[in-house]
Amino acid sequence: MSSFRWIFMALLLFSTLLSACSPQEPMSETPRLEHSVTAFFEELDAENMFTSIEELTKEPRLTGTESEKQAASFLADQLESYGYTVNVQSFEFEKYRAPTSLRLMVDGFNGTLSPAAFQFSVSGQVTGEIVEAGFGLESDYNDIDVAGKIAIVAAERTSFHELVRNAGHAGAAAIIIYFPKGYPINRWSLGKHDNAFIPALALSYNEGRAVLDHMKTDVPIKGTVTIEGSRIDKAESQNLIALKQPDFKTAKSKEIITIGAHYDSVQQAPGASDNASGTAVVLELARALRDVPTHKEIRFLFFGAEEVGLLGSEYYVSTLSKKDSKHSVAMFNLDMVGSSDAGKLAIQTVDGTANTVTKAASKAYEELHGHSVSIDTGARSDHTPFQKAGIDAALFIYYPLEEWYHSPDDTIDKISKEKLLNVAKIVGKSALELTASHNTDY
Ligand SMILES: [Zn+2]
Repeated sequence: MSSFRWIFMALLLFSTLLSACSPQEPMSETPRLEHSVTAFFEELDAENMFTSIEELTKEPRLTGTESEKQAASFLADQLESYGYTVNVQSFEFEKYRAPTSLRLMVDGFNGTLSPAAFQFSVSGQVTGEIVEAGFGLESDYNDIDVAGKIAIVAAERTSFHELVRNAGHAGAAAIIIYFPKGYPINRWSLGKHDNAFIPALALSYNEGRAVLDHMKTDVPIKGTVTIEGSRIDKAESQNLIALKQPDFKTAKSKEIITIGAHYDSVQQAPGASDNASGTAVVLELARALRDVPTHKEIRFLFFGAEEVGLLGSEYYVSTLSKKDSKHSVAMFNLDMVGSSDAGKLAIQTVDGTANTVTKAASKAYEELHGHSVSIDTGARSDHTPFQKAGIDAALFIYYPLEEWYHSPDDTIDKISKEKLLNVAKIVGKSALELTASHNTDY
């Protein structure tokens, strides 16, 4: 390289340094961030969120059905109208059909028995001796013989899935799970289908204890478990993915901030709170953040099949490349964020401890409300697969839940625009803070 070139390079560098300090250049990070947050707040519109909920709640968005697909295409159209390219990520899953009938008969027992099935209880008819197996843990089967028999266990120490698997592995042909005192036995799930499953029934505490008392009077006692009509069909659901690329390139601009919500609902529930509310907020965040310059990618996700076991979010996480997984530094999950009958805004993490998301959100919450927000434990939504993959994640939810949750009464007239706007502000502001390049040491 000639000396002339060196002088030229030095001049170029000098002029670059000069222009970096000139007043026409962008502001320093903090005022720019404040400016971004203000612009974002001005853009947010509660009416938009309400209108989206209206559209989404015209009918239940039952997982794996045409109406779930229609909701997805409404969301895709909206996102495209904001200027996003939408990636539709389809996946197959095993859809469970509930039993058409179930019965439990116990020889010589005179009381009434009203068992319930679990979601994913398999069909079958089993007659055999009923054997008490404690809490249904693996060790509870060490000294008893349940081969071909019906195990009866207390649901206290481990998941229903585990209870059914353990009994099956020990050779039991069916299992009765009785619940702790006062717990309703309907609408529980075994999580997902498992080939090791045996027919499983839920019993109330009182009925479970009554059967155990009856077993003391005359040993052995036989019973019959009958579950008919449950089956597994193939179905399809889909996630939607929309990216807002970073506007500035910095050392941290490969990082990804994820904001997501599930849009499917349960049978017969219009799902206004669960979860047209979270869906509508994420949609509005995508619109209002569209033109706010950021240093990192913001990825907006809409999950299908949450209600049948977090399948959409699990699938999305399983398809993340190693690089994208490493760069995903924060995941905000919004589920049930608009009910006027629910409690205060709460932030839940899988293990109840603080992480990147809760720290950013606590700061935003305090700045907006002047007091702190509670961080609790909760794993029953789409943040869980992210956290399990090592991505800091948290759920935003108004808690305690409204009592009409998962019912036909989950309708739009019970949605609070104020609550929608509140969570939109906190999540959007936190996300903007995390996308500021100087602000990554959470
Ligand atoms: Zn939900």
